Amino acid sequence: MAGARDVATRDVATPGGTMQALVFTAIRKMELQTTPAPRLTAPDDVLVRVRAVGVCGSDLHGYTGQSGRRTPPMIMGHEAAGEVVAIGPAVTNVKPGDQVAIQPVRFCGQCVFCREGKASLCANRQVLGVHPAAGGAYAEWLVWPAGCLFPMPAGMTYEQASFGEPLAVCLHALRLADIKPYDSVALVGSGPIGLLTLAILRTLGLRQVFVSDVSDERLAVARSLGASVTINPTRDNPRAVVEAHTEGLGADVSIEAVGLGVTAQQAIDVTKNGGTVVWIGNNMREIQIDMQSVVTRELRVQGTYAMNDLDFGRALGMLADGAVDIGPLLTQRATLAEGPTLFEDLLHAPQVIKCVILP
Ligand SMILES: [Zn+2]
Ligand SMILES: [Zn+2]
Repeated sequence: MAGARDVATRDVATPGGTMQALVFTAIRKMELQTTPAPRLTAPDDVLVRVRAVGVCGSDLHGYTGQSGRRTPPMIMGHEAAGEVVAIGPAVTNVKPGDQVAIQPVRFCGQCVFCREGKASLCANRQVLGVHPAAGGAYAEWLVWPAGCLFPMPAGMTYEQASFGEPLAVCLHALRLADIKPYDSVALVGSGPIGLLTLAILRTLGLRQVFVSDVSDERLAVARSLGASVTINPTRDNPRAVVEAHTEGLGADVSIEAVGLGVTAQQAIDVTKNGGTVVWIGNNMREIQIDMQSVVTRELRVQGTYAMNDLDFGRALGMLADGAVDIGPLLTQRATLAEGPTLFEDLLHAPQVIKCVILP
């Protein structure tokens, strides 16, 4: 244990064991600060030099205070990959020098949900960059349990590995969606989660995939990724368009990846009677929807959140195999130093699909 601590201290090669971190200090305020570098404390802790971390929509919603799911002061950032620098005495699955993708949800493994194989519902979960005590990846260094670190497949870049988490979130949602061969699927929202979901959907044997978004630029990307029909609700009636391609019935499954009332309602509207509506979007705490439409049309509304190790491993596999290409999605790179203005800029930059910070 002492040896591991020494290594950690030595390799944090800044005076006094400090590091540069982007700290969310107040609503709409990000500051580049020199903060104490994290230390190994538990025997299974690993110190990681962060090399790439994606900016998640949930971080932007936390930054504006809209979602209430980030409480300042804290370091956000949960879509990360990096290099192992030091390990605690109980760590056997990774060693210094290894390149790892970071699964940001720390499960307890003991609660009833973990034991039922539903780790994303763990009663004691701690999410990197979400729970202030867990630390975050908008920093040079982070400490995270070895069990949450996945060695990167050979040839994978840190940028690719940083897409492991959002892609795993999409895979998790699709496992809960219960999609059948030749289904028609409607995807509401073409942000990073929507487009990654689309990339996975295109690997399935579906009849067609509808994608709706208010941004024509995003819809163009969706078409390039294989959307069958795109819908801009500022011009088109989503239900009418989907009906026109489904013999008037609607989509078998719809997936909402925005998190607003209007888009949640749209997902309900375009779904066939008896169909499934999956909600991934997590933006507004409360929304208004047409409940009668859910009841009388016997829709199944399925919430979905985070992911588990199965999803994360498969996401890395899809990235490594080239089944999902991050090329069209990774549209901006930034440094930690650019952080203080980056978040405000991203709020007004719909052309940016995914921004990855390289600390
Ligand atoms: Zn995320
Ligand atoms: Zn648990």
